[in-house]
Amino acid sequence: MRGKLVYPYTDLLLQYEFKKDHPLKPDRLKLTYQLSKELGLLDKVKEIEPKLATRKELELFHTSEFIDAVVSCGKDECTSMRYGLGTADNPIFPRIYDAAARYVGATLDGMKEIIAGASNAFCISGGLHHAQRSRASGFCIFNDIAISIMHLLRKKDCKVLYLDIDAHHGDGVQNAFYRSKDVLTISLHQSGKTLFPGTGNVYEAGGAEGVGYSVNVPLIPGAGTPELKRVLNEVVIPLFESFKPNLLVTQLGVDGHFMDPLAHLAYTTHGYEFVINKMKELTGEYCDIGWLAVGGGGYHPVNVARLWTLFLASMLDEKVPEKLSDEFITACNSMGYDRCPLTMHDQNDVEQMYYSRQDVTLDLDRQIRKVEEIIFPYHGL
Ligand SMILES: [Zn+2]
Repeated sequence: MRGKLVYPYTDLLLQYEFKKDHPLKPDRLKLTYQLSKELGLLDKVKEIEPKLATRKELELFHTSEFIDAVVSCGKDECTSMRYGLGTADNPIFPRIYDAAARYVGATLDGMKEIIAGASNAFCISGGLHHAQRSRASGFCIFNDIAISIMHLLRKKDCKVLYLDIDAHHGDGVQNAFYRSKDVLTISLHQSGKTLFPGTGNVYEAGGAEGVGYSVNVPLIPGAGTPELKRVLNEVVIPLFESFKPNLLVTQLGVDGHFMDPLAHLAYTTHGYEFVINKMKELTGEYCDIGWLAVGGGGYHPVNVARLWTLFLASMLDEKVPEKLSDEFITACNSMGYDRCPLTMHDQNDVEQMYYSRQDVTLDLDRQIRKVEEIIFPYHGL
């Protein structure tokens, strides 16, 4: 009998704050925690207080020079293009090293609990998928996901499937395991032609031993729930069933939601719940080690809180009341966003269109065809 879902959280995680006007706002974590608590979901989980990752743990993925640069940049204001620090995306802030090491510690502690017997974990602060071995990138200093997977691979001979549904390409995690066939990375994201970091086309299929084990499905702006479901059914599920991973890691960035201010996708709660429920079903069937879920992007704090609370409810098989509390609606209205959610689920017909449905469908047909030709033969499909 495996243990309860593990939920690493402490208010100290809120110290990861670049600047007051930076889009990555710690409020998104605080509000998620509050909403999940208000709805009674945290009574069903094992909450743990995350520790700082040690230097040795950071070195599972990052170079010593880069870690030194983060330490020294935290002492004085510095700009280093070489290490991606002090840039517009990743400005230096007080105690940046501790804050970034605590983010890694949270995800890693979730992974350690899973190795010790928990069935799954949801670490809302995790998901810093852009951080590279030797460079901070896209709001991400250290890569909690790559480090946690490396930690697992040191402990157990096993296969990991990494699914990334953030609106941005999961480049840091893909690059970490690009030449490995033990970790199958799948990223579906808004096309790099129109969004940071510019990578993530289907031809980035892996190298050396790992050819066929890096999978990318770029989507054009306007793609929404129908496309998300189609990629799940036609790409993710067949690969999951043929790869048979021992552990699933999901990066659940929610910046692909139609209310999000940074990206241009149009996912709804229905699409996300479809993903979570399918993953729950498949991990139950295949993943003897478990399921590590992490957060990721999401730049509308109240909407992020709503979505990650819904995901937690799905993972726990719990129902939540449909109406969002007045406190959350008021908080949202005071933040000045164009749209505020009023209910836990979106209406079925809300979709923000940038392209005609026909263009979105036609483009996805071509991308899926490419995945079938380039990737599937490596998996006997
Ligand atoms: Zn993102």
